[in-house]
Parts: sequence; C-alpha cells; structure tokens
Amino acid sequence: MNIILLGPPGAGKGTQASRLESERGMVQLSTGDMLRAAVKAGTPVGLQAKAVMEAGELVSDAIVSGIIGESLDALGDETQGGRGAIFDGYPRTAAQAESLDTLLTERGRTLDHVIELVVDEDALVARITGRFTCANCGAGYHDSFKQPAVAGVCDVCGSTEFKRRPDDNEETVRTRMAEYRAKTAPILPIYEARGLVQRVDGMADIAEVTAAIEAILDGQS
Ligand code: ADP
Ligand code: ADP
Ligand code: ZN
Repeated sequence: MNIILLGPPGAGKGTQASRLESERGMVQLSTGDMLRAAVKAGTPVGLQAKAVMEAGELVSDAIVSGIIGESLDALGDETQGGRGAIFDGYPRTAAQAESLDTLLTERGRTLDHVIELVVDEDALVARITGRFTCANCGAGYHDSFKQPAVAGVCDVCGSTEFKRRPDDNEETVRTRMAEYRAKTAPILPIYEARGLVQRVDGMADIAEVTAAIEAILDGQS
C-alpha cells in the first residue's frame, strides 16, 4: 500500500507519518527531511535547496522527484516484500503529482489513498512556531501540544539535545502557506477525480488523527 498525506505546513503530516511507520511497517518518505539532510551534508542538491527552503519557497520539481525515485528504489519491489510508502510533503505541485504516477508505475506500485489533513489555518502558525525535534533521532515535539514525558529528555532515544528549523518562523510560514494554497491545494481535485481522497480532521488529538487514518487504511471508513 502506498499513500499520500496532504495538508498545509504544520497540519501534522510528519507526526502521523512517523506513527504509521512504527505501527504499520510502512516507510515515511519526507522530502523535507531528505532535503534538510542534503543541506546538512552539503551535497549539490543541498547547496541548491538551502536558500529556497529558508525563504519558504518550493525546491524544483526535478530535484524532489529525483530524490523520491531514489528512495523508492531503496525500498525495493513491493511484490517481493518491499515496504509501502507514506509520502509526506510530496507531491506539492501538479508536475510532481504526475511524476509520482510515473515513478510508481515504473516500479509496479499503485497509489491507494490520498489523505487530506484538514486544519484551521489560524492554528498552524502556533503549531509551527512551537515545533521542535530531537537533534539525535528526529522525534517530533511541540512546546504546548507534545512535550517529552520527562522535560528535556527525548522519549525515544534519551537525548537531551533538541533543535528548531530555521524556516519555522512566522514570516516564512506565511510564504509556505501561500505556496500551499497556490501550488499544492490545486492537486487535490486531480486525486478526487480518481476517487482517492479522504479527509481527516487534523485538529483532533494526535492519537485520534492516527486512528482516523488507520480506519481509512483498513477500509472501515
Ligand atoms: P507537518 O509535517 O504537516 O508540517 P508536523 O507533524 O511537524 O506537521 O506537526 C507540526 C507541529 O504540530 C509539531 O510540533 C507537532 O508536534 C504538532 N502537532 C502535530 N499534530 C498535532 C495535533 N493533532 N494536535 C496538536 N499538535 C499537533
Ligand atoms: P512543512 O512542515 O511545511 O510540511 P517540509 O519539511 O515538508 O515542511 O518542507 C520544508 C521545505 O522543504 C519546504 O518549504 C520546501 O522549501 C522544501 N520542500 C519539501 N518538500 C518539497 C517538495 N515536494 N517540493 C518542493 N519543495 C519541497
Ligand atoms: Zn531522540
């Protein structure tokens, strides 16, 4: 099974993808995480992407579709036990949606669900400006909504170091939302026409959102 989690910045895509990954043996493919890793490593892709990401604009379709193709290759053949993919933050444009179809078809995979996380835009700035992650394992947290069980200690790996993204400031968030509205939201009708889209209330508690997604994946809603 291969699914897309779609929603504006801060909707909870990364949070839900990592929960589904640990609960269902699927693999989270986050273009944002991959691009941040490339920036950190100083690869040619990273060098091209850095300023664009800091401005909250979109990295080129060719770059992101290229890295998704490589990630799918690394997952292996789904008919031979290769795990299913959860696309988190990809596709973000109509051109990327088209590339994804080709990338999946070439590898004998199909797209099973597009899950739209529906959120209240006013809540997103608060979500994003409160977001932080474990510097060691990448586990996601929030100042108000998801503190580690023991303050200052990662629940997953015990690290005491955390980090915040340079683009998680209010001004850049506004640009990212505008990009979402202009370029990403318009791909929903493409998937709707194919009967793939289901909506989940992204304002519910984290665990409730996961349960609603799992009900969809299990064919119960
Ligand atoms: P996205 O990947 O869509 O940008 P994240 O999953 O990183 O979003 O979530 C953004 C922030 O909001 C994180 O700090 C996360 O802990 C928090 N968050 C995610 N889902 C919820 C939720 N349902 N309720 C409250 N906070 C949430
Ligand atoms: P968000 O929390 O907004 O969902 P992501 O971590 O998915 O953020 O993405 C961070 C940044 O990385 C984006 O603002 C954009 O610059 C770049 N990026 C990530 N995925 C894509 C993509 N599919 N197409 C173009 N740019 C992308
Ligand atoms: Zn950790």
